[in-house]
Amino acid sequence: MLNLHWHSNRVSANAEGGRRVSQVETFEFQAEAQQLLQLMIHSIYSNKDVFLRELVSNASDALDKLRLESLIDKDLDADTSDLHVELAVDREQRTLTIRDNGIGMTREQVVELIGTIARSGTAEFVNRWQQAKHDGNAELIGKFGIGFYSSFMVADRVVMVTRRAGQAEGTRWESAGSDTYEISTVADAAPGTAVTLHLKPVDEDNHLFDYADPAVLRRIVKRYSDFIAWPIRMRAPEAESDETLNSMKALWSRSAAEITPQEYTEFYRHVSHDWTDPLETVHLRAEGTLEFDALLFLPAHAPHDLFMRGARRGVQLYIKRVFIMDDCEALLPEYLRFVKGVVDAADLSLNVSREILQQDRQIQTIRRRLVRKILGTLKDMLAKDPQRYAEFWREFGQAVKEGLVNDADNRTAILDLVQLASTHDPAAPTTLRAYTERMKADQTEIFYVVGEQRATLESSPHLEAFAANGIEVLLLHDPVDAMWVDMVGDFDGKAFTSASRGEVDLKADAAEQPDAEGFAELLGWLGERLGEKVKQVRLSTRLTTSAACLVTDSFDASPALEKLYRAMGQDLPKAKRILELNPQHPLVEKLRAAHAERGGDDTLGETAEFLYAMAVLAEGGELDDPAGFTRRLADRLSRTL
Ligand code: ADP
Repeated sequence: MLNLHWHSNRVSANAEGGRRVSQVETFEFQAEAQQLLQLMIHSIYSNKDVFLRELVSNASDALDKLRLESLIDKDLDADTSDLHVELAVDREQRTLTIRDNGIGMTREQVVELIGTIARSGTAEFVNRWQQAKHDGNAELIGKFGIGFYSSFMVADRVVMVTRRAGQAEGTRWESAGSDTYEISTVADAAPGTAVTLHLKPVDEDNHLFDYADPAVLRRIVKRYSDFIAWPIRMRAPEAESDETLNSMKALWSRSAAEITPQEYTEFYRHVSHDWTDPLETVHLRAEGTLEFDALLFLPAHAPHDLFMRGARRGVQLYIKRVFIMDDCEALLPEYLRFVKGVVDAADLSLNVSREILQQDRQIQTIRRRLVRKILGTLKDMLAKDPQRYAEFWREFGQAVKEGLVNDADNRTAILDLVQLASTHDPAAPTTLRAYTERMKADQTEIFYVVGEQRATLESSPHLEAFAANGIEVLLLHDPVDAMWVDMVGDFDGKAFTSASRGEVDLKADAAEQPDAEGFAELLGWLGERLGEKVKQVRLSTRLTTSAACLVTDSFDASPALEKLYRAMGQDLPKAKRILELNPQHPLVEKLRAAHAERGGDDTLGETAEFLYAMAVLAEGGELDDPAGFTRRLADRLSRTL
């Protein structure tokens, strides 16, 4: 933070409330914050009305926090008898003030929370986004909450006066949205926060309406913030008394039949800080021995930090309508971290900590019910609306598959939801159920290959005999696939079997079985010659066109799994693999004949090395000495010309 310069010492009263008692200090916004502000000022988002939702949402959060803190800290000097949000307009001055008597902010918090983009990943994201010059792309901006800065869509100057509960002095913040903002200390600020917007001129062609017009405010609050649990009052100069604009009914405690899709959507936007519509809404009201309400949403798009450590989770915990915490990780397992919403539980102490929640029996029961409900909803979506389900899976499938590893209790249910690439139809993924329904009459296993690139898997030599026999193989190319496919064992009694591991028995005709005897000497010699590199050399039943391939021994870890463990910092010893040769291939046949004739000389030795290297390359692997390989290959080729 750069403190630029000091103004002269001033003590003055001002319209926004509070008498200045300190110098005005000028600060520079953090670089990413400046960029985000520029996006707001140049209005990349066409719907400007939403600024009010953002500010009311902040005010409502501040009221939640004050209520909770005063329940926990009985000594806190704060009046909670009439918590509310107030909108005040001055049509002459063209200002709109959004005021709350909530928790407020200290001076340090103002600098930290308003002057910077603190949330993990967001700053970096804004940066990258800016560099990529995504002008006017509202979809991307919707991936993170823009909150307070959206004020600058409708105002050319914003003044905020705030006083933290329990503190004597307040803080005044002011900015015109350029590179800097000013801060000073004020003596008689009201408790809570007041944000005053000096409104830009009305420009209805650009969706900039008259936000000093009570009718406009009434419409926006009703539309976006009706469910806010605190009264949102409007004080218009001409009116005699305050008017409450919202119905205040916690949406989750109402019956689903009386909630409109629009109300659900706005609530989703409130809890998720997303600007798009949810993909699916799950409203669950449990009665009986365990009472709770849950209103959960599946977003339409994955957040940019879905796979970052420490990313925000999405479910808020309430206890009997009292907000307790954001990001309540005890309520859902990590693989469902993208689910947003609210859970309101009945029988818990307000003073719970995250650690206690993890152990709490009631929370654990709620969690089990929520997981079942979400997985059940997805199963229905898959059955009834496969296209929408495909959208869901594209965004979140990779996270859901983590559940196969981490949530053994629900593994069967998750297996029903999995969509995997397959050789059956390169354009469309398959479910496991559909795979088993297409299985040949005598096929008892589900075959797969696992690796990093789908394209490499598709052309892998391991698939040759499967293709020749018309047997479908799953192409698993997500990092997490290597892990679950090993742990899960089977689907519906059909074992997952790697097409590149162990022996394959494709019930080929006896006539096609390789003539093992004729090759015994060659194989023995190759085994010695390549002994450093391979565990064994044998004839293959899985190759039709390639000369050679590498396979993993029955109980060894696949290279993909080894790689995954290494990426997680666990060093697995590299398991040696088995080299399989295609006896029908001319190169292998000629090698056999040459070896029978003259034994293993240097040229044959080099050919053996080439065979091995080709097998490594064909499955997308890396050679230990790629430069040496190309040199020897060039020598050999030049001798053939
Ligand atoms: P977000 O609300 O998405 O976190 P904002 O930029 O809107 O982002 O706000 C940043 C932070 O500033 C909030 O998380 C909150 O801690 C604080 N804040 C904003 N408005 C208020 C308010 N009216 N009262 C108290 N704190 C506030």
